[in-house]
Amino acid sequence: MARFTMKFGGTSVGSAEAIAQVVDIVGDHLGQGRQLAVVVSAMAGVTDMLLDSASAAASGRQDAYMEINATIAAMHLAVIDALIKSPSDRDAIRAEVNELLKGHRELCEAVSILGEATPRISDALVSFGERLSSRVIAAVMAAKGLSVRQVDSNDFIVTDNVFQNADPLWDETESRIVDGLLPELESGVTPIITGFIGATPDGILTTLGRGGSDFSAAIFAACLRSDELIIWTDVDGVMTADPRLDERARVLPYVSYQEIGELAFYGAKVLHPKTVQPIITRDIPLRVRNTFNPAHPGTMVGARAQASETVIKAVTGIRDVSMLTVSGPGMLGVPGIAGRTFLATAKAGASILMISQASSEQSFCFTVVDPLAQNVKEAVEAELRREILHNDIDSVDLLSDIVIITVVGAGMRGTPGIAGRVFSLLGERSINVLAIAQGSSECSISFIVAEDDLERAVGELHTLALETVENDRATGLASPY
Ligand code: ASP
Ligand code: MG
Repeated sequence: MARFTMKFGGTSVGSAEAIAQVVDIVGDHLGQGRQLAVVVSAMAGVTDMLLDSASAAASGRQDAYMEINATIAAMHLAVIDALIKSPSDRDAIRAEVNELLKGHRELCEAVSILGEATPRISDALVSFGERLSSRVIAAVMAAKGLSVRQVDSNDFIVTDNVFQNADPLWDETESRIVDGLLPELESGVTPIITGFIGATPDGILTTLGRGGSDFSAAIFAACLRSDELIIWTDVDGVMTADPRLDERARVLPYVSYQEIGELAFYGAKVLHPKTVQPIITRDIPLRVRNTFNPAHPGTMVGARAQASETVIKAVTGIRDVSMLTVSGPGMLGVPGIAGRTFLATAKAGASILMISQASSEQSFCFTVVDPLAQNVKEAVEAELRREILHNDIDSVDLLSDIVIITVVGAGMRGTPGIAGRVFSLLGERSINVLAIAQGSSECSISFIVAEDDLERAVGELHTLALETVENDRATGLASPY
């Protein structure tokens, strides 16, 4: 019997109408005799509100966090009222929701007394989003006669204690899921699982990072040995470009794990970047589909790297990044400058999106997100103070009005001329490239241009991706269904 794991994102569970749609989809799959595990996000906007409630509480603004609490209450109660008819069923789930909301208020109160929301407390606070949504959705499904059980993922996903960005401890997680969830699944009960949340071995709540319920779903899919993982979202699939940047954007029928990994990392917001990690080794196909257009087959993601003649599949642009350049004549052949720079960057709390150095070794540059850029610059300057004093390093320059553009396509590997094609195209259109990097996976090329050139650059390169879609369609490469 086929076994699927599926995840519904924030907009897919964002209102009574959306949840009704989710119930239909789940009922449909169960009707086809499948075993299902369902992972859900918080209702759209709730995680942001909960984070706001944390900062409101930390700064003693009781009115603000109480208002947030009331808004979140209204959202969930509205779903219950719209979708659950039986008064006793309604009362039961209302009571559960109210109990959780009380927990949220109490935690806010504690935070306001402490005057600080630590990452650990913040994780406990945001966890209410998924704990609420999963209970309400499970209650709605049960009321429609589906055999479901609400499940808290913190009982199964065991993580390290990196709060707000925890990683699973695989062996423990796997054995808990196999022992605790698999038998139930096999007996035909569908668990409705909180996304996003885990817990340390001693039971302290953690979260897997913003957007992390995709990752949760992949963890369950892998440990439950699912035949397929479906990520239900609010777009038809993975697109060749952001339709807000170029309206010609189209849905890609197929991308490889590697390609989707690069796309997620470089700003295509369809999937959390860690999602493919658990499923790649087990070769579990992943499909991205639209809750609001379930007739569309979506985008299939799998192991096969499908090389076509025109290999560029998609183009992404990341805004709100800054480029730092460390330059000077004294860097030539001096080991350790880059190492110390990156360590200082890490200590300033920034992760690096892209690095590039020319072999002249007179300079190298790297990019970080805007809000951290000034801190990173100061940290690097402090670290390299001696070299700057001795004029071995001239300066650490910060450039903020730039974007990273990435072209993705696994077929680039071993295909000469792709980079050439990309950059001559940009050259012909007088778009200046400030820095270039290609990952050794050879699955993508990233480069930096001025922010003003973003739309033009994406538009030009997107034409190449659209050619790929056309070609693949013509040669049958694009029909994985
Ligand atoms: N609710 C969490 C967030 O908004 C996790 C998720 O939706 O994937 O980040
Ligand atoms: Mg998401």
